[in-house]
Amino acid sequence: MPGSTDGLSVCGPLPAGRNKRLLTVEGHFFAHSRLEMFQVLKQDGQSKARLGRLTLSHGVVDTPAFMPVGTAATVKAMPHDYLESLDSQIILANTYHLYLRPGDERIARLGGLHKFMSWTRCIVTDSGGYQIFSQRDLISVSQEGARFKSHLDGSRHFFTPEKSMMVQQRLGADIMTVLDECIPYPSTHFEAAKSLELTLHWAERCKRSYSTQMSGRQALFGIVQGSVYPDLRQHAVERLQEIDFAGYAIGGLSVGEPKELMYEVTAQCGELLPEGFPRYLMGVGTPPDLLECVALGVDMFDCVLPTRNARNGYLFTSRGRLSIKNACYAEDVRPIDERCLCQVCRRFSRSYLRHLYMAGEIVSSVYNTLHNLHFYLDLMAKIRESIASQNFLEFKRNFLGEYCSEDETVRSRDISSI
Ligand SMILES: [Zn+2]
Repeated sequence: MPGSTDGLSVCGPLPAGRNKRLLTVEGHFFAHSRLEMFQVLKQDGQSKARLGRLTLSHGVVDTPAFMPVGTAATVKAMPHDYLESLDSQIILANTYHLYLRPGDERIARLGGLHKFMSWTRCIVTDSGGYQIFSQRDLISVSQEGARFKSHLDGSRHFFTPEKSMMVQQRLGADIMTVLDECIPYPSTHFEAAKSLELTLHWAERCKRSYSTQMSGRQALFGIVQGSVYPDLRQHAVERLQEIDFAGYAIGGLSVGEPKELMYEVTAQCGELLPEGFPRYLMGVGTPPDLLECVALGVDMFDCVLPTRNARNGYLFTSRGRLSIKNACYAEDVRPIDERCLCQVCRRFSRSYLRHLYMAGEIVSSVYNTLHNLHFYLDLMAKIRESIASQNFLEFKRNFLGEYCSEDETVRSRDISSI
């Protein structure tokens, strides 16, 4: 492929003013190295937070970025127009779900995932590992791969690293991830070490398969596992760098470990992972988590929290999370958050949104999701602005000073007055 020297090159729309080392083919440019795929534009002076730009096949992603979860080729309850109006530059789709339904081969015949779902912006796919290793679906694991049964019809399937790469190639996301084994918390050091060796073996096979099969239009990220054990995390980072990936995800967190441990492991990975590559923290988290982990050097996040919470009537505000089903909102004429500029807050009262939720109206999920995703994406935009203007830690302090964390909100604080 033009411009692809090692199977790792990436391409995307031609940005203005790029240097002439880029070759244009069919309106796309092909970068000659992974370092051009990711640029650190500004480093915060007082933390590891950094402002960056990821240039992928379907456009540019400003980092730190939050990626809404689009499990089955749709972000639940969210029409594409709304997502685009929120300036969502990248979404995550689930390999496992799309492999089972409607099938990766069918999606490939229909022109790939972007065309199938009519989404012109960037997509990242997970490897399928997280879903496969949920106890419900798993049958057995060997060096060769993982055997599991479909949650849809009980049919049996076998995923190998090579199979995961092939499925993700057929889907055609901008970023693919290696197949990894996800272990629960707590796991012993012995269990975590054994699992990590398998994950690293699979990472090697994914890379080999990727190098020989991929067109270069899709970037491949390695995943750092190792549970909560520093020596294992260090070993994982070192080995993955030897294998050499375009970016590095931090996996195996937000699986029930105490929050402090999650921050400790993230901090360690932020220290160890190379500066010039994007860092993606998988499955995290709450608004305070995003701020804390940006400060530890994370560039990308995905989490079901804003969308799943929305469908369950939990709405994020600058003062904490509120539950719209609470009776205190029955005649509350204020918007969800008086500071929010989303179209739901500009138009509807808490009273009306509570009514929609209590009546089980379909549009309740749409409005709630729209507000929550606006809250998350707006938070990321403000984080980026604060890094650019060198006042990130002040912004973080102010935000956390006002924000009541999830558990406190539920258990001990009446936020009906916000
Ligand atoms: Zn709003």
